[in-house]
This record gives sequence, structure tokens and C-alpha cells, in this order.
Amino acid sequence: MLGLNIDRVNMDEALAVIDQFIARRQPSHVVTADSSMVVIAKEDPELYAIIERADLVTPDGAGVVWASRLLGQPIRDRVSGVDLVSRICERSVNGGSSVFFLGAAPGIADEAAARLRAKYPGAQIVGTRHGYFSAAEEPAVVEEIRAAAPDVLFVAFGIPKQEKFIDRNKAAMGVPVCIGIGGSFDVHSGRVRRAPVWMQQAGFEWLFRLIQNPSKLSKVMKLPRFVLLALRVKLFGAL
Ligand code: UDP
Repeated sequence: MLGLNIDRVNMDEALAVIDQFIARRQPSHVVTADSSMVVIAKEDPELYAIIERADLVTPDGAGVVWASRLLGQPIRDRVSGVDLVSRICERSVNGGSSVFFLGAAPGIADEAAARLRAKYPGAQIVGTRHGYFSAAEEPAVVEEIRAAAPDVLFVAFGIPKQEKFIDRNKAAMGVPVCIGIGGSFDVHSGRVRRAPVWMQQAGFEWLFRLIQNPSKLSKVMKLPRFVLLALRVKLFGAL
């Protein structure tokens, strides 16, 4: 996708691959790539290299699905961070894989965990921690996660901070699967509402987010750049 390798997986396929990563127990990095990530990675070689060596890169967002169709390599479904959190928590009940929530403002990951436990009684959420800490505190955060020993770690610091944190610390944390999920805890906590399904399907989730939170403007402004890049590849065959 415009220079990035995105895996053409749907949700069930992504969950099956994640199960394999959990079974092999080597630290694996799952990236959820939306159109803003494609644009940011073009300007951030470190992020680009991290995505290239990630173990699974899922197509997240209507923009990526749209561009895949335009470029003749259609992706059927989105596999978003918000949905991965729900589905993996749902599967964690009855002895399934355990999860840890890292990131978002103080209290948000706890609220998201409480709501998901209410929705999926018995969900094995073995720890939560907010995402506002200094570089000096990072080793303690890494140790907290290592000690909690979850099967899956969700990291919600936004792009590219979460991808760089995972890449830097995945070996020390020893968690089989680390997934960067952006603002997903804000949604699961109920603080941020998700766009109605019709708006998601029409590709206007970005507009809903912008109306709710005008500070998202800089992220939304990456969308025209993404569309132009896709059109350039379609019309001229190269970036
Ligand atoms: N965040 C965090 N620590 C930081 C910066 C951000 O935990 O140092 C959280 C923030 O509170 C929010 C999430 O990271 O919950 C970023 O969400 P956003 O939707 O902006 O992510 P993106 O659009 O980059 O996927």
C-alpha cells in the first residue's frame, strides 16, 4: 500500500495468526495500519522500518480499504484496533489468552477494562496502566508488564509513539503479542463515541471524530495527502 506492506487479512484470519504468535511465545509485533500511518511512515524512516519488520500489519480504516480497491489489490475488511481489543477480550474468558491495557489518560484504561469485563464476564484483563510517563519511568513500566506476564499487550499511545515503544521494549517485556491500538481505550471507556456504522461504511469516520474532537485536525489533514498519493500511483504508476 503506497510503499508499505499491509497483510490482506480479515478479522478471523488476524485472530488465527495472533493465536499462532501466542502459541510460539516469541515476542511479536502487530501493527494496525490506517491511512495516517501510511503518510507518517513516509516521513519517519524509523517507523517505516518498524512496520516492515512487524510480524503482522492489519488494514485499519476505510481509507486503506478504498486505496486497495483503487490500486487493484482489494482488501475486503478492515481489522481495526478497536475491534481487535473487543474480540481478543471476548476470547480471553474461560481460560483464553490474558491481556494487559497500557496507555491513554489516567483512569481511561481502567474504565475501558471495567466496561469490557461487564460485557465479557470473566475477561482476563491482568493489568492496566495509563500512558503518561517519562522516559526515566519507562524501565519500571516495562518491568510491571513483564511481571504481569499477559499473552497480549495493547499499547495506546498514538502513532508512532506506540510502535516505537513496542519495538524498543518487546524483547524485555517478553509478551507474545504486542498491538498498537491508538485511541481504542478512549472508545471502549465510553469517553469517545464511535461513528454510526453507516458513517464508518461510507468512509466518513474521520468526520465524526473531527466533530467530536477538533484537535484531531492534524491527523485528519493527512487524509488528503493519502488520497493524492493513491491517485498518483493509480494514474502514473509510481510514487
Ligand atoms: N496517549 C498516551 N500517551 C502519550 C500520548 C498519547 O497514552 O504520551 C494516548 C492518548 O491519551 C490517546 C491515544 O494515546 O488515548 C492516542 O489516540 P489517537 O486516536 O490520537 O491515536 P492515533 O490517531 O495516533 O492512532
